[in-house]
Amino acid sequence: MRTRFPALSTLKVAFAPMREFALNQRAGIFGIRLSANEGGGARPTVGWIKGGAGTTVTHRGQYAYAFAHIGAKAPAMAELAPFPDRLIDGYRDFLVDRMPTERDRYQELAKRGQSPSVMVIGCCDSRVSPEVIFDTHPGELFVVRNIANLVPAYEPSGLCHGVFAALEFAVQVLKVQHIVVLGHAHCGGIRAFAEHGPPLSPGDSIHKWMSLIGPAAKRAGPKDAGPDYLTRLEQASISESLENLLTFPYVAAAVQSGALMLHGAYFDVATGEVFVREAEGYRSLVQAEPVQA
Ligand SMILES: [Zn+2]
Repeated sequence: MRTRFPALSTLKVAFAPMREFALNQRAGIFGIRLSANEGGGARPTVGWIKGGAGTTVTHRGQYAYAFAHIGAKAPAMAELAPFPDRLIDGYRDFLVDRMPTERDRYQELAKRGQSPSVMVIGCCDSRVSPEVIFDTHPGELFVVRNIANLVPAYEPSGLCHGVFAALEFAVQVLKVQHIVVLGHAHCGGIRAFAEHGPPLSPGDSIHKWMSLIGPAAKRAGPKDAGPDYLTRLEQASISESLENLLTFPYVAAAVQSGALMLHGAYFDVATGEVFVREAEGYRSLVQAEPVQA
């Protein structure tokens, strides 16, 4: 949210109508960060203020932006961690550049709910953002991400699992028509498994999680069977996840009826090239013919 204030203003903060502030207001404290945007260039942070609805502060500058810190508990102001500058700047650009072109779409999505036709199961890797790679709009992709884009096999034990919940919602409620398992080059999770190095974290959760690709490692063959072992393992893992998807009864039924299609894809981080999995290996999408809606 952005609040625009006139230059050299006395700013009366009245957040009562803003639902987002309700949490902290109930606790009698909130924090807002004021950033001056003078001349459209540097956007220095003016400072932090605290108070409740009706607080008055004086602000010098052309514009100010107010952002709330929402938390389950209202911390003392000294403990309030500043929100990352990069996110504030990015959000500001989103409001100026993208929101105006997407406003109607957001409003429509808010009214009718989401109905994406594609689910993507991708890696947490910050370089492999499905929405960026496929240049999608809000509401078009239903995305679940985890380390190394893995889908464990179905377990009817009632296990509480993020992938299972997302999958169930996507297939049974949203009724997506496609599921894409999106792997990528230079996957740190795959490398962690392949190198069997020391645990990457004290809890060793990554190694425990990556043990799920044991079957994929068998499929990829021995390390010395040829070059590009990591690529083979990354792509074998995609195949394994696709097979695991079919262990979910409702996925198998949807595929069987033709309502759902499963796909594998692989993103080359260095070149930006996307490959899709086919019977005989992977085919680059770079030369694919554009499809007009
Ligand atoms: Zn990865």
